[in-house]
This record gives sequence, C-alpha cells and structure tokens, in this order.
Amino acid sequence: MSAQEARPGETVAAGADVVDGAPTGATRSCGTCTLCCKLFDIRALNKPQLEWCKHCAIGQGCRIYEQRPDECREFNCAWLMDESIGEEWKPSRSRMVLTSEGGVIGVHVDPSRPDAWRKDPYHAQIRAWASRAAQTGEGRVIVWEGANAIVLLPRGDKSLGKVPADHQIAFRSLRDPVGNAVLDAVVVAPGDPGWTDAASLTGRSDKDVADAHLSRGLAAAAQGDHVRAVAEFSQATAKDAKLFAAHDARALSLMQLGRIDEAIEDSQRAAELAPSDAGVLNNRALILCAAGRHVDGMAVFETALGLDPNNARAYFNRGMARGRAGDAAGARADVGRALELDDRYLAARAERGVLNFSSAMFAEAAADFEHAARLDPNGPWQLWRYVAQLRAGGSNVPLPAGRATGPWPAHLAAMFRGEIDAAKAIAAAPPGDRDGAFFAGEFHLLRGDRDSAAANFRRVVAEGNNWSYAYDCALAELRRLGAPALS
Ligand code: SF4
Ligand code: SF4
Repeated sequence: MSAQEARPGETVAAGADVVDGAPTGATRSCGTCTLCCKLFDIRALNKPQLEWCKHCAIGQGCRIYEQRPDECREFNCAWLMDESIGEEWKPSRSRMVLTSEGGVIGVHVDPSRPDAWRKDPYHAQIRAWASRAAQTGEGRVIVWEGANAIVLLPRGDKSLGKVPADHQIAFRSLRDPVGNAVLDAVVVAPGDPGWTDAASLTGRSDKDVADAHLSRGLAAAAQGDHVRAVAEFSQATAKDAKLFAAHDARALSLMQLGRIDEAIEDSQRAAELAPSDAGVLNNRALILCAAGRHVDGMAVFETALGLDPNNARAYFNRGMARGRAGDAAGARADVGRALELDDRYLAARAERGVLNFSSAMFAEAAADFEHAARLDPNGPWQLWRYVAQLRAGGSNVPLPAGRATGPWPAHLAAMFRGEIDAAKAIAAAPPGDRDGAFFAGEFHLLRGDRDSAAANFRRVVAEGNNWSYAYDCALAELRRLGAPALS
C-alpha cells in the first residue's frame, strides 16, 4: 500500500488473511487480526472506510476468503511483511495498521482507540521513524486518525485535517528566509501542481488554516518575497497564536526586511513557545547578533548548542558572529566544527576561506575556495581561489574559466588576464556589488601598486556592509598594508 493508497479519503486496498494463512513472502500470519477489514474502504464491495466489512468475522477472518476481491488479496500490512517491525505492532494488539511504500510510512489508527499512537512504545518508535526521515528523506510518516492526516515533520506535527477523496498528500522542500531547507507537506487536488487554495480552507480548523498560511509564507520567503511572507505568517499567528514555527519564520523575514525590533520580538515569542528547539534558538541568536546584541546572541547560541551539539548551522552562525566581533580564532573553530559536521556546507566552506584569507593563511583559503567551487560551480569561488593562490605566492596559477564564473566574475577574470583594465572591470559591476573594487585592489596589490590597491580596498570598506566577504578581506588587506581604513 502506498502513501497514496493510504488515503482514507480514497479507495484503498485492504483485506484480511485467513486465520491460519499467510500471504506469499510473509513469515507472519494475520491470526486473529482483522483490523484492516475495518479501517480501509473496499471499492469492489462498496464498503466505506472505518466500518467493519459485512463479510468479516471479527477476530477470526474473512467469511468469503476464496471469493474476496482483489483489493483484499493484494493488501498485506507492513507488520505482516516486515519482521524487523516489533511483535508489539501486530495490528490486533497495537490497534494500528502500518503501511510502507513509496518512502512513506502510514500509521492507520483504529478510531475506537484514536490515542493509541501517542502512547509508548509506539509513540517513541513513530518519532524515531520521523526523525530518521528528517535525516535521510526516506520513511516520512503520516499518522491517520480515522480520516484525518497528521504529518510528522522536523518542525513539528502538522495536521492536514480530512483529506478529500482523490486528493493526495505531497511532501515538498521549501526554503526558509535564510535559505535553509524546510520539509513541508500539503494536500493537493488531482492534477493540481499547487495546493490548498483559499476555498479549500473553508470549514477547516484554525490550526489547519494556520498551517496552510505558514506553508504559503515559507513558499513566499523561499522566493524572496518577504513582504508577502510576513503577511502569510501573520495570518497563521492570528489563527494559532502558539504556532512557534510561524513566529520563527516571520522573525527571519522581518530581519530580511530590516525590521529588526519586530524580528527580535517575534523570535522571543518563538523561543518562549519552543524553548527546547535548537533551530528556533539559533535563529534568535542570529537576529540578536544582527541587531548588535552580541553578548545576548552568544548566550542564546550556547543554549542552542547545548540542546543540539551537532547543529552545524548554529556553529556556523556563531562563527560568523564571532568573526564579526573580531574573534578570528573562535570563528575559525566554529566554522571548522560546522564543516566537520557537514562537509558540503557551502556557506561554511566559503566563510572559512574568507577567515583564512583575512588571517593571511592564503594557501588554506585557496583550498577552501577550491572546495566551494566544486560545491557551487557557477559561483565566484574560482576567482577567490585564483587570488588566494597568487597571494600564497603561487606561480603558473590557472586562471578561472570564464564559463564557470558567470557574467560578472568573468569581467574580473578578464581583468586578471589583462584583457580589460581594472576601471572597466569595476564599471561593469552590478549595482551594490563590492567584489569588483576588492578584486581590483588585489589586482593592483599583486602588481606591487600598493597605493592603488589601498584605494580600492578603502572603497569597499567605505561602502559598508560588514557582512560581506569583500568587506572582511579588504579590511584585512588594509591592516596588512598599514593603511587607514578610511581616507
Ligand atoms: S472481503 Fe474479507 S478480506 Fe475483504 S474486507 Fe471483507 S472481510 Fe476483509
Ligand atoms: S491488518 Fe495486517 S495482520 Fe491484520 S488482518 Fe490486515 S493484513 Fe492481516
């Protein structure tokens, strides 16, 4: 049975084995269990879901076993087929029927015992499956309380309510306002690539509507539309003031919009509602540091890492904050730890490259930028690698390939190749770009023109934004040149 088959709103396969029989490939038999003959609908018999089949001898088996429909013949629950699932999961004992197919585990709860899944040992096992799914993407869990679906997501359980006939539950990966992947689940209509429109929310509980607005907000934030995201998150909190994920996500979007006081307030509310959620605390720490409340932010990072010592993102963010506060050694240690935990963490890889560059560890910086370029072939990392290798004293350093550096870095690469002069390269920079002046500074520095180099580095610093790679490295170069940061 698949997750789609496991939709009580739609026809599903079901059927009891005979009392002493076992399906092909199974080492277990149904015995006295007949629970699937109640929980699922049988199209061929016009049997509704959640009602006993008229042919079922409850606790004994099927009275029409030889003539039972194919839907019944083809269904075997996961407990029957998978010996790794504990004996305690036998449906007649657990009051739950497990299904597993298409990477989704279905936990179908007998409506006469709707809380069965919330009790141990079942609850702990279900949570463990959900937690493994969060790490591997396999075995996502849907709990069916009768016709109502509850999806177990890393950010908390999400009630999808009653899933209409022919509708499906779709999992999707969104991006939160700072670019982290967030798993979400929504109900989609047949053939509809979108999901729950406003009309479909009519009659749903406040919690369901809040969840729907949260999903919409995350989708808007993923597209960079933080104004719309904030509006959706606000609708979510209006329906469910305790939905910490909405406060958390709104805080990040508000930060993106520069509404830092409101962001701090929202992040505090999220932290009050979910005090043991390391992700929420990490975001709050990030916002506090962005607001200049460095000491407060560090304390919250400590708490987040105490709760989840393997949170690569929290290490990375704390490292960023430490670096901005002048603690280069602490920053390098934190970003290094983030990379130990996640070798493919691009932002951490790039940040360590910048930290190494700023500390005149050019060879190490070049290695990090080379790694970053493998992770993100269309980024500017080959250009950074090139400059770091030259600064490390390298000779015969290969120039970045134009096609791998994008249209803007290609201008800079052309400058290093001597095809255009530095002024022309900078003039081609996109609005708001600071890298051009930084690389022009490096261009002059590598040719021994210290004054022109300092002038370009000063230009980067004067334009501000101390969260940019170019700013950090330009400041470090000015220190090494013994030149003032401002003219
Ligand atoms: S026909 Fe038999 S196997 Fe199928 S649901 Fe009814 S009792 Fe169960
Ligand atoms: S729920 Fe599983 S064990 Fe129980 S009758 Fe159906 S297939 Fe057999």
